[in-house]
Amino acid sequence: MDYISDEFIEIYGESFLNSYDAIYDDFFKGFNSVVEKAIKIVPSKNGKFIDAFCKYCKKTLKIYVKNSLIENSTKKLVPLVFNHQDHALLLYIDTNFVVRSAEIIAISG
Ligand SMILES: [Zn+2]
Repeated sequence: MDYISDEFIEIYGESFLNSYDAIYDDFFKGFNSVVEKAIKIVPSKNGKFIDAFCKYCKKTLKIYVKNSLIENSTKKLVPLVFNHQDHALLLYIDTNFVVRSAEIIAISG
């Protein structure tokens, strides 16, 4: 996130403040590429982004998984809950960071 905000300021700093309306469309296109870049660079240190399909939303999500979660697990398939709007995904991730199972689960309360 620090990386994203640094890039954000670097790329959009002044022009963002001066001409927000005019660059509105390009602004988000540009920001998307910054996010994609961050997704590629940041994870190698502490974790990885994995693809998980949410059947409820019918979308593939990028979910960040810490290396330590997988490394410290004694299980072959590591369970992980990812909150997604009004539901959650229960993922089982193998030691190669591949999603083996993804279930939609309800959130209590
Ligand atoms: Zn979802």
